[in-house]
Amino acid sequence: MTIIAIDGPAASGKSSVSRGVAEQLGFYYINTGSMYRAVTWHVLHSGTDPQLAGNVESAMRDVKIHTGFEEHRSFIEIDGIRLHEQLHDESVSRSVSAVSCVPAVRERLVAEFHHLAKTGDCVVEGRDIGSVVFPSTRYKFYLDASPEVRQSRRDKQGRRDEVAARDRVDSSRHTAPLTIANDATVIDTSHLDLDDVIGAILHALAAKGLPACQRA
Ligand code: C5P
Repeated sequence: MTIIAIDGPAASGKSSVSRGVAEQLGFYYINTGSMYRAVTWHVLHSGTDPQLAGNVESAMRDVKIHTGFEEHRSFIEIDGIRLHEQLHDESVSRSVSAVSCVPAVRERLVAEFHHLAKTGDCVVEGRDIGSVVFPSTRYKFYLDASPEVRQSRRDKQGRRDEVAARDRVDSSRHTAPLTIANDATVIDTSHLDLDDVIGAILHALAAKGLPACQRA
């Protein structure tokens, strides 16, 4: 299976770009951030304090997690509930970085990502995909943008989300922090539009000889 890893900080454009690249190539698309958000929703919904790692670990113990694809896009169900808009609730955005620091959460979700990726060729977006989850893939990208541009993208979407605060926690945690994998291609999306970024990635993939690019 081919894995294209697309990492980067909050609001760097990963989701739209990853979806676009997956569509162009006919690959599956895995949004790992939405999986961490879904677990965070469960933690909050069960009345657990997201800042207490031991309690978060307990809340994970008997939850049923089911992941799969619908129309080539990943989904997650928590105790049979498929989550959509709730994933971007302000409360979830505020707590997701704390929940994502808990190793038991990461172990459980990374196992899901590995399982999902057995379905077929995938574009996988996240924070640690090229560095930890699929370190042996040859196809790694890191999207970045200035903090001002990233915060203004969220504000324009009408979403309350403290981007810089999340990045601080995501970059400084012990387990699988946000980092640029040594062999990743870095793209600054601050002044590029969506099609430019997708085009740059497809171009880089073709240069690396990805067979799907010859067909696309
Ligand atoms: O991508 P998104 O901004 O929706 O991710 C939400 C949060 O999920 C991140 O701020 C981070 O705390 C966590 N995350 C992670 N590892 C990933 C993807 C997301 O820790 N691979």
